[in-house]
Amino acid sequence: TLVGALAACGGSGAGGAGAGGGGEEQAPEDMTIGVAMPTQTSERWIADGEAVKSGLEEAGFEVDLQFANDDIPTQQQQIDQMITKGADILVVASIDGTALGNQLKAAADQDIPIIAYDRLINDTENVDHYVTFDNYNVGVQQATSLLQGLGVLDGEGNETGEEGPFNIELFAGSLDDNNAHFFWKGAMETLQPHIDAGTLVVPSGQTSIEQAATLRWSQETAQKRMEDLLTAHYGGGSDQLDGVLSPYDGISRGIITALKNAGYGDTIEAGLPVTSGQDAEIASVKLINDGVQYATIFKDTRKLAQQAVAAATSYAEGEEPEANDTESYDNGVKVVPSYLLESDIVVKDNIQSLLIDSEYWTAEEVEAGQ
Ligand code: BGC
Repeated sequence: TLVGALAACGGSGAGGAGAGGGGEEQAPEDMTIGVAMPTQTSERWIADGEAVKSGLEEAGFEVDLQFANDDIPTQQQQIDQMITKGADILVVASIDGTALGNQLKAAADQDIPIIAYDRLINDTENVDHYVTFDNYNVGVQQATSLLQGLGVLDGEGNETGEEGPFNIELFAGSLDDNNAHFFWKGAMETLQPHIDAGTLVVPSGQTSIEQAATLRWSQETAQKRMEDLLTAHYGGGSDQLDGVLSPYDGISRGIITALKNAGYGDTIEAGLPVTSGQDAEIASVKLINDGVQYATIFKDTRKLAQQAVAAATSYAEGEEPEANDTESYDNGVKVVPSYLLESDIVVKDNIQSLLIDSEYWTAEEVEAGQ
């Protein structure tokens, strides 16, 4: 290959590709990329891991892929090991965005470029590039889908004149995940005008991200909180819940289970509140198709994986990866150059065009929910 030939001429041997770009070139064949993923309990991360691995292998790299069971010490240990075993570049989707300081310092000391994957890594200068989706806009889309499901906005996002009032409750993701704050900000800035206007009411009064948070994005934790909210604030017959802002499909399914158990019905048509989501997980896509969950946000993880592969390839070539955003993601120490991808709202009507036509899921999988 051209890269291989150039690297051979340059005589680049051991050592990293040089964080910050402009380093020596190295042939992918001589390079190992450590890929640290958070967990296998959610299918998006399994898909991300597989797509990044196969993309990197196609580009010629060796790959060391690890999943950390949502356990911070496990992830720290895995990254330590990647460095010890001679990783040349790291791709990291962190569990806790502030817990990897020592690992990343060790990597930077050896000139190993660090690519943050999907989730930003905070409070360190040792992160060189960030590939992700436009996380603020994901939050806007989640709130928009909720408003559309309630009939406050139409399909184009225009106000319908519907004034409610609608009772809603709010769920956020894991506070140690930087993304959770972006989703929340985008969602709340979209909902707030409707709360101020009285169209939306939050009967629990739990409107801060701390109150709404769900540690580790846990489905069980969300189900429990929904049950507690129903018990505490929806006792009276007239206190019907109409909608729930949910930041992730697993959380949505926990919420929906609590609502069904409380007698809200089995479908939105039968009285189940409108619930948003994220990730287009197959179990939730089926629920959307069946009229149980209202919406999800589709983030094509294949495209994100491709972007990570492109970034790694740039580092191998001694170049800076391409960024399309150099202002949004300040990690507390520096603004990390980022490449942001776009996401889409999925409702029943566009499952076919967005998910099946793009071969993300097959019609059979949507039917079966797995
Ligand atoms: C990701 C979401 C995902 C969530 C829970 C976030 O960091 O961006 O896609 O739903 O983690 O896994």
